Amino acid sequence: MHEAAIAQGVIDEIQRLHDEGVWSGKLVEVRLRIGKLTAVVPDYLAFCFEAMTKDTALEGVDLSWEDVPVQGLCHACGETSQFDKIGFLCLSCGSPDVEISQGRELLIDSLEVSDDH
Ligand SMILES: [Zn+2]
Repeated sequence: MHEAAIAQGVIDEIQRLHDEGVWSGKLVEVRLRIGKLTAVVPDYLAFCFEAMTKDTALEGVDLSWEDVPVQGLCHACGETSQFDKIGFLCLSCGSPDVEISQGRELLIDSLEVSDDH
């Protein structure tokens, strides 16, 4: 039930951004950036989000997302590689001395608010 906790975190973050005046009015869409290393199942996250916002001010808000690929910086040759599976060897030189630089994020990328009044 990893996704339910994450959905709650997203809802809390949306609320916090509202309280800070980042957005106001009618929220229609939330776009996330989900790193491949987070092991989140986006469809299930969207399902949880929908269930948890039912009968709240956020009911009907669409959740969409962009997959963030895993990238690593090789300490041996300085090249950046992009990975689509676990087992991070530098694609240029084969070194295992790779520091993951991207792919762990789970962020709100943008919020779309309706202009209708
Ligand atoms: Zn390398």
